[in-house]
Amino acid sequence: MNLHEQFVQLGKQYRNLAHQLGALLPEIYSSGIWEKYAGDIYEYARKYAGMASSTVKIALRLPGKLTEVPRVLEIVKEVGVRKVDAVASLITPENEEKMVERLRTMSKPALIEMGKEMRGTRSVMKIELDEEMQIMFFRLKKKLGLESNREVLRQLLVTPGSNFERKILSAENEGRSVSKPVVRELKSGPCFYCNEPAEIVHHLIRWAEGRAHRELVGVCKICHELCHNGILEKVDHKYQLYRQEALK
Ligand SMILES: [Zn+2]
Ligand SMILES: [Zn+2]
Repeated sequence: MNLHEQFVQLGKQYRNLAHQLGALLPEIYSSGIWEKYAGDIYEYARKYAGMASSTVKIALRLPGKLTEVPRVLEIVKEVGVRKVDAVASLITPENEEKMVERLRTMSKPALIEMGKEMRGTRSVMKIELDEEMQIMFFRLKKKLGLESNREVLRQLLVTPGSNFERKILSAENEGRSVSKPVVRELKSGPCFYCNEPAEIVHHLIRWAEGRAHRELVGVCKICHELCHNGILEKVDHKYQLYRQEALK
């Protein structure tokens, strides 16, 4: 094992332990056992576990936010108090199972991004178009040569501020990885979903279905997670398992 690998492995263990400590703290607090060893719970957590007071605060208020969703509380020891706290207010008994899955498979930045979208959009938003707007809309649809209204709207929402064209490409090469020129072309453009610079080549038609590189797009890292966790696209269970392992 080289130095870097050693560092990474210790880092993982360190985070794992920190998650477990955070999950244990509320019980320590309510039992009152800390009183024997420190002036207050913050001092106790710092003295015995090096926990920052901001983390202690989050750890202690978290159970109160999750009384309706006990399964989420159970995975705090796996993913840590901060990650759960980032989306705690959005979890309901109805979406509990889905959110537990997302907490396991999504990174914190992607969860925060998803949270912003969930707060703004409780369900489907309907836009009314009067006659004039409808005519404009259908003219644009014809001009763009698109079949679906949704796709026209997406183009409209993505286009402002973009100097690039969003591309959907195919690569003819065989094998697992996409040919280099295609990768380069997609990564030099914007994210297919949000216009940030693209970082990853993503298969709109999953590689596992047909083992071909069809309908490839460039996406940023956050949108990529949103794709594979059922927020921008259908859920991809294989990918979730793979990510779950990678985040451990
Ligand atoms: Zn992908
Ligand atoms: Zn993006």
